[in-house]
Amino acid sequence: MYGFGILKGLGVTLRHLVNSYVDDIKWGVSRYETTEAFEARQGPNARGVVTIQYPEEKMAVPERFRFIPFLVINDADHPEAPGDDWCTSCGICAKVCPPQCIWIERTNDPETGRPVPQPKNFYIDIDICMNCGYCAEFCPFDAIKMDHDYELASYDRTTRHVFDKDVLSKPVSYWQEIAPTRAEEERLGREAKEAAKGKKKKRKK
Ligand code: SF4
Ligand code: SF4
Repeated sequence: MYGFGILKGLGVTLRHLVNSYVDDIKWGVSRYETTEAFEARQGPNARGVVTIQYPEEKMAVPERFRFIPFLVINDADHPEAPGDDWCTSCGICAKVCPPQCIWIERTNDPETGRPVPQPKNFYIDIDICMNCGYCAEFCPFDAIKMDHDYELASYDRTTRHVFDKDVLSKPVSYWQEIAPTRAEEERLGREAKEAAKGKKKKRKK
């Protein structure tokens, strides 16, 4: 029938319009704020059209989302070493970083002058970082992770876009909060490694 295609197209548009409101009501206040809602509304079975009133409303990002890296440190209430760096300043992340935007300043023992496995400072030029995540993938100590914070705009790119150790450091509880599955997998992996090391030592004795 002549014009049937137009009617079909209008029907699709109308269905999307109605579904947008049905889905908004279904998800209620959590419609942009939970990972479950995010996955349902951005997935292949999504219904309707989602418009977010950013910055008043923000959509939750999935666990695998990655932006500028951050450095993991112990929590402030750690019983033995509160706030200690996990980074050993081994330099692997700086070596694998494709655009070479990581600089690490090693700590030296004041008496012997020998390097100590701890960064004195750590810089990332966030204008150069391309969010590839290689640094986090290659770090053997789980000490650098990809952040979810994407609101980094500022009026001064000359000084505020080179992040130093103070800006980059965040407690491990923050990583556990934004990426609970990965953080748990890594914790189990570290425990397994420690257990294997312990067994090796016993065998040597
Ligand atoms: S973040 Fe990881 S890879 Fe980079 S220097 Fe520190 S320990 Fe090494
Ligand atoms: S995310 Fe990629 S580009 Fe950014 S610091 Fe890490 S390795 Fe370099």
